[in-house]
Amino acid sequence: MDDPMLLKPGLYRRAGSSARPDHPALLGGACACGYVFFPLQRYGCERCGGLDLEPRVLTGAGRLLAAARVHLHAGKGREAPFTVGSIKLDDGPIVRTLIEGDESQLRPGASMVTILAAVTDAEGEERFDLRFAPEG
Ligand SMILES: [Zn+2]
Repeated sequence: MDDPMLLKPGLYRRAGSSARPDHPALLGGACACGYVFFPLQRYGCERCGGLDLEPRVLTGAGRLLAAARVHLHAGKGREAPFTVGSIKLDDGPIVRTLIEGDESQLRPGASMVTILAAVTDAEGEERFDLRFAPEG
């Protein structure tokens, strides 16, 4: 079931949701109380503490809350500059993510969608990892 070409197949899938079939879906969860979260976890609901949690496919689209260009990065494995941002998904959760695409479109409230970007994993194999980009 897992797509071997995806870097983190537990977090997203190539196929979109029914609402946005053209953009990779995120693999989140939902509680019986209605709270929707990402990523999927089994420790308990952050809102009610309940354990009645189920997988929920989340649409790969949302609105940009904030973005920042990183010019100096002390960590290994990622070459600066790159852009990070917070996006409020249409399904509710807020995700922190790498952002690609036209910087001039990165205004708060901008419509953002998921894309798959080619990356090289720790073994030197080509994989795809999830990013967000401005829509259109
Ligand atoms: Zn709950």
